[in-house]
Amino acid sequence: MSSEAHQLRQPHAVLIPQPAQGHVTPMLHLAKALHARGFRITFVNSEYNRRRLLRSRGPGSLDGADGFRFEAVPDGLPPSDDHGDDVTQDIAALCLSTIKHSAAPFRELLARLNNSTPVSCVIADGVMSFAQRVAEELGIPALVFWTTSACGFMGYLHFAELIRRGYVPLKDESDLTNGYLDTPIDWIPGMEGIRLKDIPSFIRTTDPDDVMLNFDGGEAQNARGARGLILNTYDALEQDVVDALRRTFPRLYTVGPLAKAAAGGAETELDAIGGNLWKEDTSCLRWLDAQRQPGSVVYVNFGSITVVTAAQLAEFAWGLASCGRPFLWVVRPDLVAGEKAVLPEGFVRETKDRGVLASWCPQERVLSHPSVGLFLTHCGWNSTLESVCAGVPMVCWPFFAEQPTNCRYACAKWGIGMEIGGDVAREEVARLVREAMDGERGKAMRASATAWKESARAATGAGGSSSENMDRLVEFLRAGCD
Ligand code: UDP
Repeated sequence: MSSEAHQLRQPHAVLIPQPAQGHVTPMLHLAKALHARGFRITFVNSEYNRRRLLRSRGPGSLDGADGFRFEAVPDGLPPSDDHGDDVTQDIAALCLSTIKHSAAPFRELLARLNNSTPVSCVIADGVMSFAQRVAEELGIPALVFWTTSACGFMGYLHFAELIRRGYVPLKDESDLTNGYLDTPIDWIPGMEGIRLKDIPSFIRTTDPDDVMLNFDGGEAQNARGARGLILNTYDALEQDVVDALRRTFPRLYTVGPLAKAAAGGAETELDAIGGNLWKEDTSCLRWLDAQRQPGSVVYVNFGSITVVTAAQLAEFAWGLASCGRPFLWVVRPDLVAGEKAVLPEGFVRETKDRGVLASWCPQERVLSHPSVGLFLTHCGWNSTLESVCAGVPMVCWPFFAEQPTNCRYACAKWGIGMEIGGDVAREEVARLVREAMDGERGKAMRASATAWKESARAATGAGGSSSENMDRLVEFLRAGCD
């Protein structure tokens, strides 16, 4: 077959993530999985992230590979935000801005691509539903990929009903602290045992016009109009929620964990393509190599968006100092809201024999390192899933969005997490870390984490639910999504 004829027969998928780390990473994993199954890929970054990726990974890192190309569209945020060096953009502003400003350039791009190499399908991030709409307007079928957990997505899907039933918006600010958030919510299908505080955090507002309450709730409803819904989870992990979702979304593809560890860590020709927006500091891997005792290190990382106050940073620092365990702590330069993250005086001196700091690390490799025994995490979905894949238990300090939901599942359903309650206090950090590393609870969590690691591997291995769902997805995409 001539290469031109091959190009025409090869399905072409265009994937567009929300331009934030926790979305770019799983979308890239999905793109690579489709490429490995014979798809031509166009991956669409924001221009801002394109610049960041070129900076963090070096020129040439976006050259792609045969049949794997990158494009970019503007996110519409003003240049003042755009010029910041390696900073996470404000998520609410980004959501509003992309809806308004990215749709027209995306339409132009899609039309251009479609003229040269016909596009078989668009896979739009669940919170970029404008891309789904634009694709369908151009006659190109679109699926959505919600990069959250199934339980998180189910929560967003019920924002409208929570509003209709009068649970939210909150009547008063005091509802945040007076026990109201403990109200059981026993009517969301597949989510027995949850409370209002386990629903994605954007419901914690008194403002009916709150941007994130309306945005995420609305985007979740938009998924109903997509040709299919893709989730980065696997059936056994969230069986009840997945079963309930399948009743609403017959074309639900649970294809996770979309992480390298789950695929057995095999090398592929696309390994050079990475999606980390910060430059990775790999020296921490050598430090981990030098730790003698397996499972001895506490790994601390709050992902790409979480911000803490200077006081909270100090509580974590002194908690780690007094827990007595070796630790690797990733402190992003923009971790402290509105100022440069500065650790408390004396902390580095006091912990230098057993602690190491980094500004960004190759997290999947860190979590699967034999020296790591515990993950102190904000429970972002990618981090949670990566921890599941690595069989590492967690101490959880959820920050926002569906992180409280993930935390609830990790602690109460999967038995692999312990939550730092309320505001963080150094004594509690130290106590939970010790309990998780040496206590009875820790032992039980390690056993559960090992079992979940095996089940994640089984789901993505031959004959596993996620690999079968990936086959079904590929078949559906190849058949034109009807
Ligand atoms: N990550 C990383 N190195 C770091 C911190 C984070 O590679 O130092 C990756 C992590 O592996 C995960 C993603 O960034 O895939 C963060 O996504 P997550 O959903 O956990 O949290 P978010 O950043 O969206 O809050």
